[in-house]
Amino acid sequence: MTLPDRPAALALDAADPLAPLRAQFEIPPGLIYLDGNSLGVLPRATAARVQQVVQQEWGQGLIGSWNSAGWMALPQRVGDKIARLVGVGEGEMVCADSTSINLYKVLAAALSIVQADAGAASRRVVLSERSNFPTDLYIAEAICRERGFTLELAEADGIPARLDARVAVLMLTHVNYRSGRMHDMAALSAAAHAAGALAVWDLAHSAGAVPLALARDGADFAIGCGYKYLNGGPGAPAFVWVHPRHAGRFWQPLAGWMGHAAPFEFTPEYRPAAGIARYLCGTPAVLAMAALECGVDTVLAAEPLGGMAALRAKSLALTTLFAELVEARCAGHGLSLVSPREADRRGSQVCLTRTEGGYAIMQALIARGVVGDFRAGSGALPDILRFGFTPLYTRFVDVFDAVEHLHQVLLTGEWRRPEFNRRQAVT
Ligand SMILES: *Cc1c(COP(=O)(O)O)cnc(C)c1O
Repeated sequence: MTLPDRPAALALDAADPLAPLRAQFEIPPGLIYLDGNSLGVLPRATAARVQQVVQQEWGQGLIGSWNSAGWMALPQRVGDKIARLVGVGEGEMVCADSTSINLYKVLAAALSIVQADAGAASRRVVLSERSNFPTDLYIAEAICRERGFTLELAEADGIPARLDARVAVLMLTHVNYRSGRMHDMAALSAAAHAAGALAVWDLAHSAGAVPLALARDGADFAIGCGYKYLNGGPGAPAFVWVHPRHAGRFWQPLAGWMGHAAPFEFTPEYRPAAGIARYLCGTPAVLAMAALECGVDTVLAAEPLGGMAALRAKSLALTTLFAELVEARCAGHGLSLVSPREADRRGSQVCLTRTEGGYAIMQALIARGVVGDFRAGSGALPDILRFGFTPLYTRFVDVFDAVEHLHQVLLTGEWRRPEFNRRQAVT
């Protein structure tokens, strides 16, 4: 196969039916932004919408806006929109809090359910992946300490063999934040169930990036992030989904008043709301949720163009092109591919590693206007140069140009300059 040159990459963009979606965003001119897996770009609609919420709904409407502007229903309204992107039903998802906090809620509820069903003495293990995102492991460890469970970690390939009668919950991030490797949700959920465990899935790197069908694929609980592929803005609220068969069974531990059956009765006793609403805790972050809704709308805008399936097809075309161009253009410079070569086993990112200079190479790229990020290795994990490809706004020509910049950085040894070797706080 011959790889495209720059005119051919431009021709791919000209023929791309999703290309018009890029106009929804404010992308600084000349920037090639390959970090939408960490912080999505700013939708054009967001500033005006947030200003409207501030000046009219808050400034003029004041407290009446809880009713008149629909503030109270935001967790459900935005939750229902995200639900469409991850293949779950209306009324099954709410938008609230952060990914970390939602993980705490669902993990605790899952443990309560397993304990009730299996008896308190058996099943004392939460099983996860060693290279899962740290906050997921920390939250799990904290719950395990609090409730007398043990967190056990396995390598990705070793997970099925570790699912036995001791495991209460299998807790995984669907797409690994470091490698971009995607788990087989259906197979692992089925294996968890066969072993008598529940399956909790973190969709931080999946929602808005890959098609999902949570109930079909056996998920019991799912949570995910609003500021990555959903373009909700820094620290955007997260989302939480519980399979309807579990949603009414237990209190989640952060039983705040917004999860009460009737918050404005102000009763001293907690009575959990039916269904997913009990997974709310406190007052919705209205400004942040207004921004998130604009971000989610940018992904929903793909629905008439084929929706998540079309986005996935473009994402795979982008990541495949990037990996192939890197291997062709940057051969002999010590880079190797960390992400799976098989398209259906990776999310929407491509990760490279190099024994030396990873951090500085990324800094040199950023100075050239190609933004990815760097994740330091530790133990058996290699240093990672991470490139996220958001199909909503990334062009084929961006892929082509990014690889040319990477080639230049390596060829000229530009990355060895001292200014690219000084560490910043956020990598
Ligand atoms: C980004 C990410 C998070 C972020 O959690 P916050 O509570 O928003 O800080 C959690 N888990 C995974 C797997 C992530 O990729």
